[in-house]
Amino acid sequence: MIETDIIIIGAGPTGLFAVFEAGLLKLKCHIIDGLPQPGGQLTELYPKKPIFDIPGYPTVGAAELIDNLMEQIKQFQPGFTLNEVAESIEKQEDGTFIVTTNKGTKHHGKAVAIAGGLGSFEPRKPELENLAYYEDKGVEYFVKKPEMFAGKHIVIAGGGDSALDWSIYLADVAEKVYLVHRRNEFRGALDSVEKVQALKDQGKIHLITPAEIVELKGTTRLDAVVVECDGERHDVPCDYFIPLFGLTPKLGPIADWGLEIEKNAIKVNNALDYQTNIPGIYAIGDINTYPGKLKLILCGFHEATLMCQSVYNMLNPGKKYVLKYTTVSGINGFDGTRKEAEKAVVKSIE
Ligand SMILES: Cc1cc2nc3c(=O)[nH]c(=O)nc-3n(C[C@H](O)[C@H](O)[C@H](O)COP(=O)(O)OP(=O)(O)OC[C@H]3O[C@@H](n4cnc5c(N)ncnc54)[C@H](O)[C@@H]3O)c2cc1C
Repeated sequence: MIETDIIIIGAGPTGLFAVFEAGLLKLKCHIIDGLPQPGGQLTELYPKKPIFDIPGYPTVGAAELIDNLMEQIKQFQPGFTLNEVAESIEKQEDGTFIVTTNKGTKHHGKAVAIAGGLGSFEPRKPELENLAYYEDKGVEYFVKKPEMFAGKHIVIAGGGDSALDWSIYLADVAEKVYLVHRRNEFRGALDSVEKVQALKDQGKIHLITPAEIVELKGTTRLDAVVVECDGERHDVPCDYFIPLFGLTPKLGPIADWGLEIEKNAIKVNNALDYQTNIPGIYAIGDINTYPGKLKLILCGFHEATLMCQSVYNMLNPGKKYVLKYTTVSGINGFDGTRKEAEKAVVKSIE
């Protein structure tokens, strides 16, 4: 049995930052994630993309932000159970919780913070015969390592931001990029549509619209897709086919834990501390919903902070918490009283 103060389900940016805020309050955390690496959507869906709305960073790569969060929480030595999905949660008579994964690992904690984001990642798959056979043999649903497409012929399908953005990015990496969409108009950002058009004019992206992939070909692995365009079928030789039709949000096992769910998200008390209908279980980041909810990284950071304060108050009834600025108290140092803070300031001036 793994013992901790807060069991965090989800190692996305929200879950990782919760470790830091909990550490400031001397609360230990253990994180569970179904993926083999931390980072959530940032690592899984868009590791190479720049993010522009993290305070203090004019721009930061998604993977870089996760590396920085990992560096920031290292000092608090969180535990990790990776590659295992949290499957069940049992509240004990003393108000603590046991969370068990699909591989049977048990975690015992005083509170649970669900930071499960979109839940498990389920790509929307095209209805093509033998699709499953070609998975990992040329069919990819995510671009995790762009370098694997260097010098290759790739076919991307889709009309949203992911299809456009990856076509633009991979135009500089792959030997040939085809972008296939069933309509002439794209749903993605205007700026991206214009970039794709410009790359098409330079011969770096081959646009095929309105068209659909109707068949996959290849013996031991994919070597061509069949594209139907204007009622005619053409073979397009390729090494990779990347259908980017979005993700189906799937809460997975979380849906069966007796939590109040609304539109695939967990309802929380946002006026106070992001607690769910089960006292002691919190939901933070993309996984929760409340009036005015915004699914943004910085909102997850804020929610994680208030959740930690609430857990601290729950575990220390009657103890007055004094807000500490890290600039004053440092991270591992003082008890946050004015006297201690003043001492710290004097010391830093000395
Ligand atoms: C293409 C794209 C671009 C984006 N750009 C921006 C941007 O510029 N700025 C911005 O603020 N936001 C952006 N976002 C949104 C941002 O990525 C999310 O708001 C953020 O990832 C939410 O973080 P999270 O930690 O709450 O959840 P996630 O990042 O989704 O992480 C949740 C983790 O929980 C795990 N999990 C779920 N269920 C279980 C379970 N039962 N057991 C174990 N593990 C589980 C998942 O495997 C996942 O790793 C973008 C999103 C996308 C898709």
